Amino acid sequence: MSRVGVFVCHCGENIARRVDVAAVAGFARGLAGVTVAEDYPYMCSAPGQKLVRDTVQAQHLTGVVVAACSPHLHEPTFRAASAEAGLNPYFCEMANIREHCAWVHEDRAAATAKAAALVASAVEKVKYDDPLRPIEVPVTKRALVVGGGVAGIRAALDIADAGYEVVLVERDPSIGGNMSRLSETFPTLDCSQCILTPLMVQVSRHPKIELLTYSEVEEVGGYVGNFSVKIRKKARYVKEDVCTGCDDCVAACPVVVPNEFDMGLAWRKAIYVPFPQAVPNVYTLDATACVNAGLESKRGTYRVLACERWAEACTLDAIDYDMRDEILEREVGAIVVATGYGLIEGKPTSDYGYGLYPDVLNGLEFERLISASGPTFGELRRPSDGKVPKSIVFIQCVGSRDPRHGVPYCSRVCCMVTTKHALLYREKVPDGKATVFYIDIRAPGKGYEEFVARAMEEEHVLYVRGKVARVTKHGDKLHVYGVDTLSGQQLEVEADLVVLATALVPPDHAELARKLRISTDANGFLSEAHPKLRPVETLSAGVFIAGAAQGPKDIPDTVAQASAAASKALEMLSQPLLEREPTVARVNEAVCSGCFDCQRVCAYGAISRQEIRDRQGNLVRLVARVNEALCEGCGACTAACRPRVIDVAGFDDEQVFAQLGAITGGPAPVGRERVEVMTG
Ligand code: FAD
Ligand code: SF4
Ligand code: SF4
Repeated sequence: MSRVGVFVCHCGENIARRVDVAAVAGFARGLAGVTVAEDYPYMCSAPGQKLVRDTVQAQHLTGVVVAACSPHLHEPTFRAASAEAGLNPYFCEMANIREHCAWVHEDRAAATAKAAALVASAVEKVKYDDPLRPIEVPVTKRALVVGGGVAGIRAALDIADAGYEVVLVERDPSIGGNMSRLSETFPTLDCSQCILTPLMVQVSRHPKIELLTYSEVEEVGGYVGNFSVKIRKKARYVKEDVCTGCDDCVAACPVVVPNEFDMGLAWRKAIYVPFPQAVPNVYTLDATACVNAGLESKRGTYRVLACERWAEACTLDAIDYDMRDEILEREVGAIVVATGYGLIEGKPTSDYGYGLYPDVLNGLEFERLISASGPTFGELRRPSDGKVPKSIVFIQCVGSRDPRHGVPYCSRVCCMVTTKHALLYREKVPDGKATVFYIDIRAPGKGYEEFVARAMEEEHVLYVRGKVARVTKHGDKLHVYGVDTLSGQQLEVEADLVVLATALVPPDHAELARKLRISTDANGFLSEAHPKLRPVETLSAGVFIAGAAQGPKDIPDTVAQASAAASKALEMLSQPLLEREPTVARVNEAVCSGCFDCQRVCAYGAISRQEIRDRQGNLVRLVARVNEALCEGCGACTAACRPRVIDVAGFDDEQVFAQLGAITGGPAPVGRERVEVMTG
């Protein structure tokens, strides 16, 4: 006989405002199999949990139903309370009467009736619950970090400093990411390279970090605690352990192409180091630019033919024409993804003459132009004619907060970036005129408001509230046409240079996300498992996210999030065994027909083909088998299985039909109501 206890929560006013909780508890008392039903203001509080524990023990309950908020939030809390009272934690069910009733309905009577139906449904399910135990999986004590910007660097160092091995994979020839391009950083205006370079060097020297630059993740297999990763290490055509970075080959190379690190504002040779502080500081031959390279195959890999110029130039014999891409395999327990951001291109910027006029720049280009390590060594000169700009117009929100261009969000850093640019400009050109067009100023960080006030009040930067319509060029001057929305006046401002605070957009990480089985949000950034409670976790267990890959953010937030992701990874790596939810698929192999429809729909690769052999070892048939460590319990396979021999533990047909029957008034499944009480 079932002895179910029902606990209805007021959630302060959250539920009680719309749902008559006392009436729901009264209704529950009348349900078959319910021994006790109570309501309480905050069921998740210590006294609330004690009420659950004490009642389970005093009333010898066989099941618990908590009618409260989303199970996402407090299912672990109430399962733990039930377990402490000696009940199997999977004999505790939740009815979500907050998000599903109180928060979405105006009518109190209707919301109360719906809450009662949800409670009845959960009571029916708990009667059919099976005792389940967490699945235990071993853990490989090594982490993979993808992306070597400041987020990836911080996460890798935190994990390695805690004593665990890290494989850091960076797509570019050097780590550093976008922060290495910045001149100074707001709001303190300290030199970006000076704070980043020591960390980059630390990474390269750390005995626990394997740094794989010019590399990309090719394939990810396995599951939480036990991922196996294939990494493509692209051919550099230069032996990393021999090259001393002496520069001799560069002088010999005749090919000149735009330098990506300097945002195309300077040139590099086909054989190059992206920037002087690069880590590792070894040369890379860009086979796409080399005149002696040819496409080797349709797969797009290049083959470099011998170049006599370098052969003569490199006295150390560090150049290796026979080098090929290598596929490395690494086993890791946890993965941190920190692939950063890009800047929007196309219409939002071309509307302002970007790409048409050389003196219209985006923010990262301006950073390179004013950086001491930039193409002009920090001397601010116009790209078109090398003159010092006597007036600059800065335009904020270019592309951002503009759903027409698919960027409805605020890029979060641009207001501060523009202020920094205006201040640095005024420092370099004290008689220069700086005008900022803004929609509104968002400066919520520590010291940020004061930073903006300094630009407005002390440095006489002119802030114009308004949108710019277009930018044109007459003679050697740019003309910016806009509206001052405070005075209603049309404006035409003459400028030597225009700097666009363009939207931060996700990099091309969709393919990587697919390989890692993590999702992206509507804007293409990586999705967190829960924005408030699990901000660095993903829905794929063991995969964490950090930095601008999750959404635009400044360096302090990026670094904080990277340390948070590292600590989550460490929490996993430090466990001898990992516990996973036991609500995974299971196959009744005796009746499986071996059609493998389930395997085709499983997005997690959790289903394999298992050979069934007779005593003589002859193959009899193939059946589906679920790898419990890979299965996420999504249930797709149960829908695909026509003979209905696969189900998810905790959600089998009887349990689901029992729930539905309670809501629709249909018949309950016959013959399987649980009678025994399992503990532990
Ligand atoms: P990134 O710096 O973008 O690094 C990501 C790294 O991942 C890169 O190295 C990239 O090559 C690599 N990568 C990408 N995809 C892959 C892949 N598939 N496989 C392997 N590697 C991959 N913030 C401040 O606090 N102060 C400032 O003054 C400031 N100034 C700024 C100025 C401008 C113009 C802009 C646009 C931003 C500014 N920011 C500033 C924000 C700052 O740039 C970011 O907060 C920071 O760079 C985010 O670091 P990240 O590591 O998340 O990303
Ligand atoms: Fe077996 Fe069902 Fe999978 Fe077909 S779909 S292989 S019957 S478990
Ligand atoms: Fe794959 Fe989902 Fe079925 Fe698990 S429940 S085996 S993840 S389809």
